[in-house]
Amino acid sequence: MSPDPFGPGMSLCLTCGLCCDGTLFRKVPLEPKEGERLGARVRLSEEDGSLCQPCRALSARRCGVYDDRPSVCRRFRCLALEQLEKGQLTEDEAHELVGEALARRRALAEVMGFDDEVHALTLARAQVAAGLLEGAALTALERLSRTLFFLNLTTTPG
Ligand code: SF4
Ligand code: SF4
Repeated sequence: MSPDPFGPGMSLCLTCGLCCDGTLFRKVPLEPKEGERLGARVRLSEEDGSLCQPCRALSARRCGVYDDRPSVCRRFRCLALEQLEKGQLTEDEAHELVGEALARRRALAEVMGFDDEVHALTLARAQVAAGLLEGAALTALERLSRTLFFLNLTTTPG
């Protein structure tokens, strides 16, 4: 969501977008006034005022409100990005990890029979919660979930 525009993570995030498009998160908590400031550029939850994902400000894996993005977005680092910035992962390794997540999400959507990968993932999660997902779709969701679990692990408060 938030790398330095001149840092090593920017090219990684521009190939990814998983923390903005509804794959890793469903909502982004906002500080007071942030929702008001962002207005119709984002979609807010009527329930709790948080920013709903997939984020309306995301376009072609770019944040359309980058200079004005919420504080949580500024702070967030997935583990791949954090390790890349600390030199604990090479750029190739970080891109490989993100690429694996994207490929596994695509594979799930194909098994589920949808073009919209985030919609397929949302549906698969709902079905697994209801005990309805099985076979190849369940296997594909489990494979994706393992990669996302690693990406989502973060030592930076978000
Ligand atoms: S999940 Fe990580 S690599 Fe992907 S856009 Fe978010 S911070 Fe960047
Ligand atoms: S405001 Fe920008 S950084 Fe935050 S979730 Fe939306 S697209 Fe991502």
